[in-house]
Amino acid sequence: MYNFEFEKPKTITDAVTALAVEEAQALGGGQTLIPTLKQRLAKPSTLVSLTGIAEMQGVYMADDGVLCIGGATTHATVAADVTATYPALADMANHIGDPAVRNRGTIGGSLANNDPAACYPAAVLGSDAQIITTARTLSAAAFFQGLFTTALEEGELITQVRFPIPERAAYAKFAQPASRFAMVGVFVARFATGVRVAITGASETGVFRWEQAETALTEAFSPAAIEPLSIAADNMLSDMHSSAAYRAHLVKVMTARAVEAACWAAGHLGAQHWGSAGGGLCFARMRGGAKRAWSVP
Ligand SMILES: Cc1cc2nc3c(=O)[nH]c(=O)nc-3n(C[C@H](O)[C@H](O)[C@H](O)COP(=O)(O)OP(=O)(O)OC[C@H]3O[C@@H](n4cnc5c(N)ncnc54)[C@H](O)[C@@H]3O)c2cc1C
Repeated sequence: MYNFEFEKPKTITDAVTALAVEEAQALGGGQTLIPTLKQRLAKPSTLVSLTGIAEMQGVYMADDGVLCIGGATTHATVAADVTATYPALADMANHIGDPAVRNRGTIGGSLANNDPAACYPAAVLGSDAQIITTARTLSAAAFFQGLFTTALEEGELITQVRFPIPERAAYAKFAQPASRFAMVGVFVARFATGVRVAITGASETGVFRWEQAETALTEAFSPAAIEPLSIAADNMLSDMHSSAAYRAHLVKVMTARAVEAACWAAGHLGAQHWGSAGGGLCFARMRGGAKRAWSVP
């Protein structure tokens, strides 16, 4: 690690001022940035910690029914605080990494990093959320610009993310077993205006919408609607964990599971949270805290 200065401002205005220094960089939970510094892959002059900025912390419902999450809010806080308002998002946050990652990592850091296997990009694109920065408001479609690339300019901070609440939603992740990042993760959200399906972990160009599935699911919101579909492996990631063809296969499987979860969570048994893991196991946490698990073909 190279030497650097450290600032911990208390307001967004002071953070922007601190970031105006040449080579200064924002520090969220440090889950990605600190390992990068340890390996001497980055050499910031100053780290500007966002953890002391109260106006970037926490969750509230706006008057227009939009769920607002501060840019420096940890995954653990999201998992705990949106269970009633947006259970699918709470469930997604609750299955990021491990407890240490969830208690330090932040929504703003995750989105700014735009790792192609991260979970939040799928939730943000799938929900058609807005990203509020120190300079402007960005749609999810405008924000994500490819592998580890976003619309953020130098010194621009994500201060808040605004989620419209869908009628039904679920996130299904086939987790890479060591890191828990998504080998393929699918966020499905049904709004009155139609269904959105966002895929993470699969593509060489980062998070994307599967429009063919969106059309089919808008007509009939059921796992059966996915059955006749397929997705090409052309632009899928290929690595030691999975070939491109396997990822393409997983996109279809995990989309069907997310839809099934969304249907189920919408009321059949009163589920509050949903998740799914590899090996065909789905599980749900029920109102009152009980858990149920069952196999999905
Ligand atoms: C072992 C492990 C497992 C993980 N598993 C998962 C997983 O399953 N799913 C998943 O989605 N993620 C996973 N992550 C990623 C993790 O959840 C963090 O979200 C991510 O590492 C970055 O968030 P951070 O707050 O730690 O950001 P930092 O590491 O502090 O910063 C990352 C980048 O974002 C910038 N930045 C930080 N905050 C802001 C802001 N508010 N505005 C603008 N720029 C900002 C920084 O300057 C830096 O460039 C995992 C990480 C680890 C280490």
